Parts: sequence; C-alpha cells; structure tokens
Amino acid sequence: MNPKLNALLAKVAAVMHNDHDNISMPQQLSDNSNYCDSKILTNPLALYSRGLSSDKLQNRVHVGIDIGTAYTVLIVLDERMQPMTGEYRFAQFVRDGLVVDSQKAISMVQKLKHIAENRLGFKLSSAATAYPPGVLLTEIKAKQYVVNCAGFECDQSINEPTAANLVLQIKNGAIVDIGGGTTGIAVVNDGHVVYTADEPTGGTHFSLVIAGALNIEFEKAELLKKDPKQHSKIYPLVKPVMEKIGTIVANHLLDQDVSTIYLVGGTSCFIGIGKVIQKVTGITTIIPAYPLFITPLGVAMFNANNDKASY
Ligand code: ATP
Repeated sequence: MNPKLNALLAKVAAVMHNDHDNISMPQQLSDNSNYCDSKILTNPLALYSRGLSSDKLQNRVHVGIDIGTAYTVLIVLDERMQPMTGEYRFAQFVRDGLVVDSQKAISMVQKLKHIAENRLGFKLSSAATAYPPGVLLTEIKAKQYVVNCAGFECDQSINEPTAANLVLQIKNGAIVDIGGGTTGIAVVNDGHVVYTADEPTGGTHFSLVIAGALNIEFEKAELLKKDPKQHSKIYPLVKPVMEKIGTIVANHLLDQDVSTIYLVGGTSCFIGIGKVIQKVTGITTIIPAYPLFITPLGVAMFNANNDKASY
C-alpha cells in the first residue's frame, strides 16, 4: 500500500483507545516501515487549537461512528483529515447489520462521545455513520437514530465498502470486510463500488469454533483470538472458517474481473488469513495496516464532505 496511507493508518492506531479489552493490534504488513509511532499526536489538541474557541473547534472536526456486530468505533479527524482521537469498545447490540438493543447502543455511543470530548476539551456536534451493503433504509435510519440520541447531529450514512474505499482509494479490485458477524464483499470498478454482498460469517464464528474446540467460554475464546501471540497455536482450529470465507468470496467474484482483493475489518488482523483467502480464491490478497480501523476512518472522512449523498 502507499506509504502515505500506511502513515495515516499508523496515526489512527496511535490515537485509538480501548479501555476494556487489552488487545494488541498487529498491523499485518511486515513491510510497513511507518509503524505506529507512539509519539505521534500525544497531544492532538496542541497541534490543532491555535487559539480557536470550542464552537469553532467543534465545527472543524469530523466524526465517524461505526456500530458493528463486535465493535463500536468512534474516530475524530481534524480539518486536515488527521486523526485527533478515537475510542472503540467490544459490545454486542447489532445482529446481521440490525441494531437489536437501541438503548445499549445509545449508551455506548454516549460514553465514547464523552470520553473523546473530555480528551479533546471541546464538544463534538455532528457525526456520520455506516451501514452494511444491502440493508433496508429503516436499518440505516436506526443507526442514525442511535447516533442522534447519543447527542450528535447525524444525517449522513455511507455504506461500509464505500467508506473503506475513501481510505484505500483503489481504482479496481475487491474490498472484503471480514468483521465480527459478517463478511462484506464489494467490487470496485474505475473507483466506484459496482457490486456488493454481505454474508453471515465473520470473526464471531472463529471464536465459537475456538470455544468449542478448547471447551472454554466464548469471551475467553474471543480474548485468545485477539492475542497475536496465540495465532499460530489456534490457526489450525480456525483455518476451516477462513477457507469457508474464502469460498464465499470466490463464489461472489466468479463473474467479476478482479485481480486484487483488499482485506479489511478486524478479523483480517488474524495472522495468516490473507494467505488462506489468496489460496482459495486464486486472487492476490493484500491486507492494509490496521484493517480494523479502515472502515471507521472512512466514515469520519465522509463526515468531512457534506456534499456527498446522505440518507
Ligand atoms: P460487522 O462488520 O460484522 O458488523 P464489526 O464492525 O464489529 O462487525 P470489526 O470491528 O471490523 O467488525 O471486527 C470485529 C472482529 O474482529 C471481532 O470478531 C474481533 O474479535 C475481531 N478481531 C479484532 N482484533 C483482532 C485480532 N487482533 N485478531 C483476530 N481477530 C480480531
């Protein structure tokens, strides 16, 4: 991937906070020389405030909120699209793209908003959100409702693969977003998303398989799975799920002219998944750095562009 993109993703990873899980985040790319520098943006506001009042500050930042099956992620960018801060938490109130517990979802977004505001020292006012391909308008509205009830103005929603491509900027290829509950597939042709699908297999299935095989609780399996040091040991257990995802992707791309797959989503952090997808599909597979944050970053970038279509 291009060095500028790697540097941006490293900055995002440097400002992200997660108080609950103690996840170490592998960046996946071994050749990424722009590895997350913890000194970057240690005081984001210092880079930014330049004596501006809180009112002015809140109008110049861009907020993306991605409410997924496994993670709720909030990212704040400054006017130059540089990451200022971000929060993410494991929480399960979405199933198959549908918000099934609005109250819990609202409380979570409120909490992330407050934490981010305290860190930045000013209020956040507007935010964009995202939805998986193929969901109904009512489901898109349901996510906006959650973000609105949490105290944001939110009338912008972008579909997840388009958000991911605001970051990746690929002209031709497929973006495969392996999240918690689902795998999203999007074909990009001449910079535009021309085909999408969303299939109900993702990282949650990895955890279920690990829990069953090792006879442990789901929560414990989830933690084990997110520890890169455990990946080589549990790889044989989850390889069949990776192969299943590869087969699903291959079937969707059968009639498509795709020469490169870009893997995003948290499950793409599992070491070795790229090779399995490449082997099953026969298509060159690339994993950008910090794949968990690519779609939420794109959602924040979308919030910066008010001219874009909104629901
Ligand atoms: P969906 O897109 O299905 O709605 P989501 O948006 O919550 O879900 P992501 O946030 O992209 O999905 O990814 C969450 C998944 O990634 C979870 O299953 C989580 O366990 C997994 N995950 C996160 N970090 C890692 C890691 N380091 N190694 C392996 N899996 C990981």
